[in-house]
Amino acid sequence: MAAMIFESNEAAFRAASELMVGGVNSPVRSFASVGGTPYVVERGEGAWVIDVEGRRYLDYVQSYGAVIHGHADARITRAIADQAARGTTFGAPTVGEIRLASAIVDRVAGVERVRLTSSGTEATMTAIRLARGVTGRSRIVKFDGCYHGHSDALLAAAGSGVASLSLPGSAGIPDGAVADTIVVPYQEVPTLDERVAAVIVEPIAANMGLVAPEPGFLEGLRAETQRVGALLIFDEVITGFRVARGGASELLGVQPDLWCFGKVIGGGLPIGAVAGPGTIMDHLAPAGSIYQAGTLSGNPVATAAGAVALELLDAGSYPQLEGRARALATGLASVIAEAGLPVQVPQVASLLGLFFSDEPVRTYADARRAVGSGWYAPFFHAMLRRGIALAPGPYEILFPGLAHSADDVDRTIDIASAAARDAF
Ligand code: PLP
Repeated sequence: MAAMIFESNEAAFRAASELMVGGVNSPVRSFASVGGTPYVVERGEGAWVIDVEGRRYLDYVQSYGAVIHGHADARITRAIADQAARGTTFGAPTVGEIRLASAIVDRVAGVERVRLTSSGTEATMTAIRLARGVTGRSRIVKFDGCYHGHSDALLAAAGSGVASLSLPGSAGIPDGAVADTIVVPYQEVPTLDERVAAVIVEPIAANMGLVAPEPGFLEGLRAETQRVGALLIFDEVITGFRVARGGASELLGVQPDLWCFGKVIGGGLPIGAVAGPGTIMDHLAPAGSIYQAGTLSGNPVATAAGAVALELLDAGSYPQLEGRARALATGLASVIAEAGLPVQVPQVASLLGLFFSDEPVRTYADARRAVGSGWYAPFFHAMLRRGIALAPGPYEILFPGLAHSADDVDRTIDIASAAARDAF
């Protein structure tokens, strides 16, 4: 097929909008909450993306955290090409799955067994089915503003794109599908009873902006789930292998019963994983009676990319990631405040949030109040005009990665200073 050439983002996005709903294949990519026309990406290079007009943007979206080594890292693209040349999918066990599963098991204390899926959504769906099947109970507890993918039972008070579009939830989900989902404010340890199968939580909330767990919150969930025999599920689709070698459970010192992973473990290709000890995981079919499946699950190309992505994360990677993020957080907070805007830039390891408010943000209600200030959209556009790409939604976070240099961080802070004055 001939390459499609568009002379402008407007023209490309017009074509996209005729062919795809809202011009996108995932609502978080739309500019619905910030206004304007999205840049249409032609290619990426490390920390940068280049649009169809040839404009370069220093990119903090980084596929919402899927590419920790930056775009088109040569070591990963080589692994992808090598595997593609040997076959892209087989419908039989592969050596690549063993390599990736072993990299996950090696890094996360408490994980013995892995089930690979093709997305984070499938991972959380499977974790919940597993918890219900193992406990024989129905109720699930989730937290206000935490996003666990788009499955029916978990799309209640979900943050992320649902929040950016100001939707209370999603149409098309029958009451019955969420009847057993109990939503609790983040930071609150609910009193559970024997009807609860599982508590699922983002151990560091990253879909309502960035909200760190307060001391005692995760420890409280651990103790309360143990007390009633419910499972604790950490959704580490964002935090896994990003905030520490062993993810958030290592960083924060609390071990759940089940983990959900995605993003980083696919090296930029579609993937997800449920993981945990054999005593729980072995209830999945074919060892057990809880069914879950996928034609492309554990896909050889995705596992090749993901295994290299994990293996490239060495002892120096995490201090580097955190150092860049800390410099960025401090710099952004200072130049935006100097411009006269209320601001806070929460940072945990390499995750970074941006709230235009000086009121403390510890829950989704606080996040919504902070977003209500309305400063995100003008700041986003003032940055974009100057070549810095943030996510086009106020509930998303920034993903500085290993491809962002110290100079990139300095440049971002300089530009933010001018952008904040513009936005103000
Ligand atoms: N869980 C969390 C914490 C996420 O941030 C996401 C996606 O952003 C998901 C689950 C769903 O993953 P996917 O988009 O791969 O289905």
